[in-house]
Amino acid sequence: VVMVWQKFQKHSPCEQALVLLYEFRHACATPLHVLRQISEHMALEMQAGLDQPGGSQLTMLPTFIEKLPNGSEEGLFYALDLGGTNFRVLRCLLGGPEARVVKQEHEEVPIPRQLMLGTSEELFDFIAMRLITFMQREGPEFHRGCNLNDQQIRELGLTFSFPIRQTSINTGILIQWTKGFKITDGVGKDVVTMLQSAMDRQKGWPQIRVAVLINDTVGTLAGGHYWNDDVMIGMILGAGANACYVEGNLPNDIQTKSGKMVVNMELGGFWSSHLPRTDIDEQLDNESVNPGDAAFEKLIGGMYLGEIVRRLLLKMAQEARLFGGVTLTKLKQPFILVTPEMSKMHADDSPDLIVVGKVLRDVFDIGQTELPVRRIVHIVCDTVTKRSARLAAAGIVGILKKIGRDGWSDEVGVSGTLKPLRRNSERTARPELKRTIVAMDGSLYEHYNRFRIYMQAAVHELLSEAAARKLVIELSKDGSGVGASILAACHSERKHSAHT
Ligand code: BGC
Ligand code: MG
Repeated sequence: VVMVWQKFQKHSPCEQALVLLYEFRHACATPLHVLRQISEHMALEMQAGLDQPGGSQLTMLPTFIEKLPNGSEEGLFYALDLGGTNFRVLRCLLGGPEARVVKQEHEEVPIPRQLMLGTSEELFDFIAMRLITFMQREGPEFHRGCNLNDQQIRELGLTFSFPIRQTSINTGILIQWTKGFKITDGVGKDVVTMLQSAMDRQKGWPQIRVAVLINDTVGTLAGGHYWNDDVMIGMILGAGANACYVEGNLPNDIQTKSGKMVVNMELGGFWSSHLPRTDIDEQLDNESVNPGDAAFEKLIGGMYLGEIVRRLLLKMAQEARLFGGVTLTKLKQPFILVTPEMSKMHADDSPDLIVVGKVLRDVFDIGQTELPVRRIVHIVCDTVTKRSARLAAAGIVGILKKIGRDGWSDEVGVSGTLKPLRRNSERTARPELKRTIVAMDGSLYEHYNRFRIYMQAAVHELLSEAAARKLVIELSKDGSGVGASILAACHSERKHSAHT
């Protein structure tokens, strides 16, 4: 061992780092056959999660949404969208099938970091305060055609981008905080009650009725479906990762008029032994606020990509002295490299990788770097993003498989009876394949170009040609907010609503 070590030491830092890079890339690999296994496993896990609560790491939460918007919705509605590091308040005047979204206003409010680590009461008090300030600025142009007076209660769709076990369309209990929120309480409490109590503490007008409580994926799905009823899947690839879809094979204990319901997969919780995980991923998980949970999200989510890169660079600095003798204080700081900065490095196609050098300097205080060092950093970004994008693609294809729209398989499962997936040799594309639109939102998908390109390529590799032609992934920017207000309209108690 000593001899091998001494020999190893004779190599330059770059050569040593390349060995680590090679190992890492090997552990991150996502060849097509692995992606296929993952998407097949995904479809099976979806069924297992539906069949039995706790039957899978995919919680497959019923949303109580049976009816998706179709454009006929009318009236003034609010939405509150609490997601990652921002929340968004929104009002929307809906004018029915012809006029559609007549007018819309929104405001985005950053959540002070200390509130993400405090109590739920502090968080909701802050949200209620900002919501009220926003509502008080409601102009008369929002009253057109909906004879609302100032004193009336406003109806609101609450988008809450954390896993919730719903008990009805507008009640639900928080299962856990994710995405770095470490609120000391709140788990096990009804989210709508927490908001309503905070509103009550503020007293006076305006008052709200929460008409629907939804996940952000559901808001995105609804916002897309309002315009086009081929939208069957809502997906978020942002700080976190998740998807929901319209399920037509519901377990026996869920009865709906149409036989359908939107199911929130909590995709980030997916686990499969086929997932390509590295030592770095394991360390990241162990040191996270929710060790053992959200395994898939920690490989895919924008919140984690930069952090995976940082960890590998630190390892290269410590074990191979990749950056020479510089101090590693910054490089040792968790989450200091955010994904937008990583994306900038990755997008750098200048011959000298100037942007990579600049980000290393700005973020990590690593001044002078040689081109080969910057090249290695660039490849690290590429490796991490490529894996994330290809796994996300396998997730999408898994959902298509489950609903029988991947061009190979029949719909998986009438509850309890899993149909075996067809073998390759028996595969024939089904002629009557329907068009499927995925309404997609999230900063990772929207802003990280190479991520999007890798993801689309992998989707095409995985699908039959016929199915690939029938699949549309549509960016539905901030769809979850508008979607929530439209769903509030669908489930309004007010007389004038088109749906009552
Ligand atoms: C949450 C999901 C959410 C997703 C995207 C995850 O961390 O568990 O409920 O949909 O992030 O915001
Ligand atoms: Mg969001």
